[in-house]
Amino acid sequence: MPTPELLRELAQAEWRAFGSPRDSHKLERADLRSRPDLFFVRKKDNPSQIYVVKARSASTWECLRCGTRTRAARVERPAPEGSFSLFASRSPSYEIVPFCPVCEKEPRSYESAPPLRFQH
Ligand SMILES: [Zn+2]
Repeated sequence: MPTPELLRELAQAEWRAFGSPRDSHKLERADLRSRPDLFFVRKKDNPSQIYVVKARSASTWECLRCGTRTRAARVERPAPEGSFSLFASRSPSYEIVPFCPVCEKEPRSYESAPPLRFQH
């Protein structure tokens, strides 16, 4: 469980867009001066769901609330609005969505994905 101090710091932190701008599942990232070894990621549409990421490897993600190792789902991106064309490529585009298997419902229709790793 996170300490009240950490929760207060996160509430006051500056959250910046994180991940691909094409993603429909928007993520935000915050860095805290008090924890240079970590960074924090949350879902824009569910800001209370926060993940703790080890800054050194960026591949170990844990749920802030319960400490469970975060899982990654590869979900199909919805087709962009107005993009339908007879000649448009029908090959689907995917994005990686993190989720905590304890605190969150598994995303619908997903494939398991490699460990979360984002380039930044
Ligand atoms: Zn959790």
